[in-house]
Amino acid sequence: MEREHLIKPVLDHPYPTVQYGKGVFLYDDQGKAYLDGASGAVTAGIGHGVPEIIEAMTEQASKVSFVYRSQFTSEPAEKLAKKLSDLEPGGDYWAFFVNSGSEATETAMKIAIQHWQEKGRFGKNKVISRRMSYHGITMGALSMSGHVLRRRRFIPLLEDFPVVAPPYCYRCPFKLNAASCKLACADDLETAIKRIGAEHIAAFIAEPIVGAAGGAIVPPEGYYKRIKEICDRHEILFIADEVMTGIARTGEMFGMQHDGVEPDLIALGKGLSAGYTPMAATLVKDHVMAPILQGSKSIMAGHTYSANPQSAAVSLAVLDYIEKHQLAQAAQSRGVYLMAKLRQLADGIEIIGDVRGRGLLLGIEFVRNRDDKEMFPPAAGITARIIDKAFHKGLLVYPAAGAVDGAGDAIIVAPPLVITEAEIDLLVLLLEEAVREVMDELAR
Ligand code: PLP
Repeated sequence: MEREHLIKPVLDHPYPTVQYGKGVFLYDDQGKAYLDGASGAVTAGIGHGVPEIIEAMTEQASKVSFVYRSQFTSEPAEKLAKKLSDLEPGGDYWAFFVNSGSEATETAMKIAIQHWQEKGRFGKNKVISRRMSYHGITMGALSMSGHVLRRRRFIPLLEDFPVVAPPYCYRCPFKLNAASCKLACADDLETAIKRIGAEHIAAFIAEPIVGAAGGAIVPPEGYYKRIKEICDRHEILFIADEVMTGIARTGEMFGMQHDGVEPDLIALGKGLSAGYTPMAATLVKDHVMAPILQGSKSIMAGHTYSANPQSAAVSLAVLDYIEKHQLAQAAQSRGVYLMAKLRQLADGIEIIGDVRGRGLLLGIEFVRNRDDKEMFPPAAGITARIIDKAFHKGLLVYPAAGAVDGAGDAIIVAPPLVITEAEIDLLVLLLEEAVREVMDELAR
């Protein structure tokens, strides 16, 4: 066999070669179709091969693709920053553009720390996050992530930032239920702040809905209102990591809108360019920028490709497309349809313990025993097996961390927001076949 040069995620795994994408389908070079049931990595929000985006890309490329941000600004970058601020109901956000979700959360961390430094409060430089969280793979973002598997190799190099309990109602860390819940998971933040001292803490970071580390875990009602109130009372900035939930995915433009909370900083990525080009952003509220504007007047962050005009033009076209086709509303209504279908499926399949999520960001947790929520042992690799079976049937779904750090085996189902009901029916059919085949294997 000819030797390979590309480092792929698993080096001895055979990957099909993609040929093209159209709508919610991808096609490999053998002509096999794959229903993109998770928008890749919850990214291809408007589907593949959309002509309007390709036109916007070509038009911008014919003018200029790259300028260095220390030498020029560009119309697409300026317009995109304003557009994002206008889309957030609270408005008043500045935008800093980067290339990945990891850079967006890490930049949010740096801006939060700089905010306090400009005010002369140099001790405020820790960021609290939660267990079962994922904020990215770069060292700063990983330091803030409660994702055991991705941290493991680098533990000695990571900042030992504090973590608090996740809002994981299906397996409540405080053994409470809907009736007895008094938002102990939110109050856990206050306990940590008192232990560490607010004078050492710059920010708290959380995903509106836990994605990769849990499988679309929605916090209990009132959780984020309580979190924001605790943060404000202790002078701690709240960073919403909307890399997965942002840009219409949950049925609103931003996931935090469901909770009526305006974060001090917002990290965006994935759906912001819907996968057409690398693009991510850190949105920063006016009051967070104010001491920086009065002080050093510059953010100590950024990359060669930051605010790239080509990528900004693509993101603007993606946002236009989402508005024109009312895809936030589509995520809401099709999410209801998909959720109902998955719940129906769960009725007949005893290893489905929980179906959850919001809009078109849904999760399914698998259990050995539905009554006592007993987990499968990690060695059984249930998440990976279900994903693999689905893949062979031509259905792509996304793994959550899977049976580590208190999280159960779970997958994310998050198709492009343009998916039709007939395509959802096909998705659920293929998923059912995959899960039943794994169940049959377990019974043998
Ligand atoms: N934050 C969240 C919530 C994510 O889901 C991810 C990626 O899965 C990231 C940050 C990191 O984004 P990226 O992979 O683009 O660096």
